[in-house]
Amino acid sequence: MKVVIIGGGPAGIISAISAKKANKENDVVILEKMKTLGRKLLITGKGRCNITSSLNMSDFIENIPGNGKFLYSAFKNFTNTDIINLLKR
Ligand SMILES: Cc1cc2nc3c(=O)[nH]c(=O)nc-3n(C[C@H](O)[C@H](O)[C@H](O)COP(=O)(O)OP(=O)(O)OC[C@H]3O[C@@H](n4cnc5c(N)ncnc54)[C@H](O)[C@@H]3O)c2cc1C
Repeated sequence: MKVVIIGGGPAGIISAISAKKANKENDVVILEKMKTLGRKLLITGKGRCNITSSLNMSDFIENIPGNGKFLYSAFKNFTNTDIINLLKR
């Protein structure tokens, strides 16, 4: 299958990896309007690429400015530990 992803930010890059992992036969292309992928990602955390924290979920939610409790359902499916493990792989 031909998979075309528009935008090569973190979401597009992870989508491309997932599409290829789902089926190695997939022909995956990222269309990015800038010269390189992930330009915004590179300026996060003042250039240190600050992704997440290794706190347990309660402390993690507690440290989100405002009311972070609405994030519980999303984090039930994909946690801060999941993103750390994904990036390690
Ligand atoms: C100054 C700053 C600091 C930040 N610091 C942090 C931080 O410390 N930690 C953190 O977790 N997050 C941080 N963020 C937020 C983080 O950068 C975003 O959450 C993340 O980049 C969103 O990823 P995305 O893939 O959804 O979108 P984007 O990164 O915006 O990627 C979208 C991509 O699509 C491309 N695009 C758009 N339209 C088209 C088109 N028509 N055709 C082709 N390509 C197109 C864009 O050029 C871009 O590359 C920061 C953001 C900024 C601006």
